[in-house]
Amino acid sequence: MGKSIFIKGEHIIMSKSLKNIKGTQDILFDDNNIWQYLESHIHQFLNKYGFSQIRTPIFENTNLFSRSIGTQTDIVSKEMYSWTDQGGNNLTLKPEVTASVVRAYIQHNLGKKYPINKLYYIDTLFRRERPQKGRYRQFNQFGVEAIGSEHPEQDAEIIALAYNFYKSLNIENLTLKINSIGSEEVRNKYKLELKKYLIPYKDKLSTLSQKRLDTNPLRILDTKIDFEIEIIKNAPHIIDFLNKEDKDHFSKVLSLLDSLSIKYDIDHKLVRGLDYYCRTVFEIQSSKLGSQDALCGGGRYDYLVEELGGKPTPAIGFAAGIERLILSLNKKELSIFKRPNIYIINTEEKYLETSFEITESLRNNNLTVINDTLRRSLKSQMKDANRLKALYTIIIGEDEIKNNKVTIKDMDKGTQSYVSFDKINSYFLKKQ
Ligand code: ATP
Ligand code: MG
Repeated sequence: MGKSIFIKGEHIIMSKSLKNIKGTQDILFDDNNIWQYLESHIHQFLNKYGFSQIRTPIFENTNLFSRSIGTQTDIVSKEMYSWTDQGGNNLTLKPEVTASVVRAYIQHNLGKKYPINKLYYIDTLFRRERPQKGRYRQFNQFGVEAIGSEHPEQDAEIIALAYNFYKSLNIENLTLKINSIGSEEVRNKYKLELKKYLIPYKDKLSTLSQKRLDTNPLRILDTKIDFEIEIIKNAPHIIDFLNKEDKDHFSKVLSLLDSLSIKYDIDHKLVRGLDYYCRTVFEIQSSKLGSQDALCGGGRYDYLVEELGGKPTPAIGFAAGIERLILSLNKKELSIFKRPNIYIINTEEKYLETSFEITESLRNNNLTVINDTLRRSLKSQMKDANRLKALYTIIIGEDEIKNNKVTIKDMDKGTQSYVSFDKINSYFLKKQ
């Protein structure tokens, strides 16, 4: 039997259709401590690198995504939450953020304002994928976009930033995978060669890969199926098709990473799923994550600004899953409990005004103060204070009111002090 709830005065049983949608989650109580901690860590960390936050709408015109991500990609071909609104507009809940950032960059003429725009976001995205551990239909990402520089030092800065971010959270078992997929011309040449190599194996490929052979052969390199992995083992490497400029760019990125002692694996199979990437692509994985092992992924997208109607502008960025970040954190680090400083125990309705005044003045001194609004007994308020792991309780009862004093109990030591009303704040300020 479902939980019963009230809707418009009717008492009904909670049916499946009133529960959260598959692939979405409610985040409750202590789990929010880690979210709040991570969000503020992300802001602090990215501000240190001089990135500024950008917030874009939760939905956009559908064609923004089909034009940028590419119609042959999984996201656009089958995973978007799209609908037509009452005005006949085709809209989509954002499945990723880069397209929106670039749209905003063009729309607000940011390139004219600043020659380089270093932006970051924390956002909620939607993709209709098969939900499993580390893969949801509503999920959260933070990401960065540096728009304006074509130089390899920009690639290295972004990659180092991503790597150092995970290091700053003591995440272990990190692997940085990197590849260069060259310019569009190189990719087209390579696609033909790859197709040539794969055609003899066509009958052995999965139906999906057979389809991709015509539409998006690069994606076959990304396969997770064992027998396909075997087939592509000897496939040609895109790196061998790079022109001189692409090669020079890539070796400079690598030498800058070397200078920072950041270890990487060159992965010839790494091509990334979206159409807009060129030259450097990378992913950071954690072996703690199982099959959804990518913590973040990104790369250069020098053609996207132009593709969406702006002036040709080079850019590079990455996006990082926050749910996967949490899954990869050390469990010990997850226990960031926030203990309230004080729990106010008021024993009588008639002392409410006094207890409100004390509560507010303590909060004005930046203390976390909890008060009871259920008019519970002293005993059950004390129990609640224990459950919340309050550091102190303040008891306001008959005796206390008579003497203009309160009883302050140190919940860890079990000791009590009797403190006059006007000394309560200084009592706690001294403890800080
Ligand atoms: P994957 O290969 O795992 O599907 P992706 O290449 O689709 O990832 P991007 O679109 O580049 O991933 O998104 C960047 C990051 O966002 C991923 O590395 C992952 O950490 C996270 N991510 C992507 N899709 C999901 C999802 N459905 N649920 C939770 N996190 C996700
Ligand atoms: Mg994916």
